[in-house]
Amino acid sequence: MQVGGRSLTWGGSALRLSPYELEATDLDGCTLSWPLRYAELAEAYSVVESAVGLHGSSEGLSPLPDSVYRYGPCALTPAERDFQQSFGRLDFDAIPVRFVSPTSGRDRWPGFTTQATALAAARETGRLALRPNAFATEVTVNSDTGLATGVRYVDTSNGTRHHVRARVVFLCGGTIETARLMLNSQGSRHPDGLGNSSGWVGRGLMDHPVVLAVGVLDGYPHAAGYEWAARQRGLLVPPRPGSQGSDVRPFGMWVTLQRLTSQGKTLGSIDAQGEMLPYRHNRVRLSNARDRWGVPIPFIECKYGPHEQRLYAAMRCQIEQASAAAGLRITAISERLSVPGLQVHDLGTARMGLSPATSVVDGNNQCWDCRNVFVTDGACFPSAGWQNPTLTIAALSVRAARYAGDLLRNGLY
Ligand SMILES: Cc1cc2nc3c(=O)[nH]c(=O)nc-3n(C[C@H](O)[C@H](O)[C@H](O)COP(=O)(O)OP(=O)(O)OC[C@H]3O[C@@H](n4cnc5c(N)ncnc54)[C@H](O)[C@@H]3O)c2cc1C
Repeated sequence: MQVGGRSLTWGGSALRLSPYELEATDLDGCTLSWPLRYAELAEAYSVVESAVGLHGSSEGLSPLPDSVYRYGPCALTPAERDFQQSFGRLDFDAIPVRFVSPTSGRDRWPGFTTQATALAAARETGRLALRPNAFATEVTVNSDTGLATGVRYVDTSNGTRHHVRARVVFLCGGTIETARLMLNSQGSRHPDGLGNSSGWVGRGLMDHPVVLAVGVLDGYPHAAGYEWAARQRGLLVPPRPGSQGSDVRPFGMWVTLQRLTSQGKTLGSIDAQGEMLPYRHNRVRLSNARDRWGVPIPFIECKYGPHEQRLYAAMRCQIEQASAAAGLRITAISERLSVPGLQVHDLGTARMGLSPATSVVDGNNQCWDCRNVFVTDGACFPSAGWQNPTLTIAALSVRAARYAGDLLRNGLY
């Protein structure tokens, strides 16, 4: 994707989950709670935030815990400052957005990406062996112990096939690809795919549904000098604490006012992002068709349920409330939720949980059925929250990597 002539690998919007998401109660037959508590994740969040360099402000709000910031919040336009006051009178907190600084790492925007910054730092340790063009096709397993022995891969530059041995395997190819890899790793110890005795591998697929509105801000001139850059500018409205516990999962709203003009009119936009439930029927499975390397192509089945209909109504209502408070005359608003997949916040498919009967990994991201395999991408999310997921993915990865390091140092695996 290109934004403003720059390539965008991710938007850099970085938000913590709150205790509310991690301790969520069941809804519509879906289990949403996580097997770990906020206190167990907080320090790992701080480690990641210190590394990536965030803009933001400490607000002390229970639905959105504060982060560690290296830089201050972005400057707000006069219309955004007025909106903070007017929406505040309706008991909503509108706070400056939180995001990775364009100047914090080695990439152009956002400043910190895996490719430009994290991999480069890992290489500088001298302990990284990077195998470019390696397309992993299968995790290999010892049929006596059931433990992973390594990974098979194709060198896509010349089609040669290889096997790399490993004491511990981390799966982090992205939610859909991790599910495919696990489902494609079948053997006598894992007949339905690696770690799939619960039947949950591939299931519980989620994305973040959004509702978008744009409009004209009649009362304000265009504010020059406030560069617009999606969720890197403007305000974030986290859910009110009182909104929690209803039959609609909490959602957040992003509000940018007075930063754009069109045909002499000052514009504003509001988008709401919410939580889709982890329905068991939403899944990635292996299709009969194969890719050029002979690996079954992932087949995705995903649809919303009644909760998401309630969510749409609640989001639209709150956007209209916010527009009125902002003086924003809506000219276009989504008539339905974005289709699953549009937000590219793929989550679920190897959910973490308290029991091997109902989940794929435990609270340390360790596969119940294959203890030297860890799943640390969005696949491990048992529920999505409303917050953009990457900060949590990174924090879970820090935690799991430390844990796996301890196991290796203690001679296990
Ligand atoms: C345009 C855009 C904007 C976004 N903005 C935000 C944002 O502002 N905030 C936010 O929190 N999230 C955002 N996201 C989501 C974010 O990009 C993902 O949550 C994040 O990248 C997930 O990280 P990951 O490491 O788990 O997976 P990925 O970033 O997908 O990395 C997986 C890696 O594994 C490699 N891989 C996959 N399969 C194989 C295989 N078989 N063999 C070998 N390698 C393999 C891939 O090439 C890739 O490098 C955005 C996404 C998009 C597309």
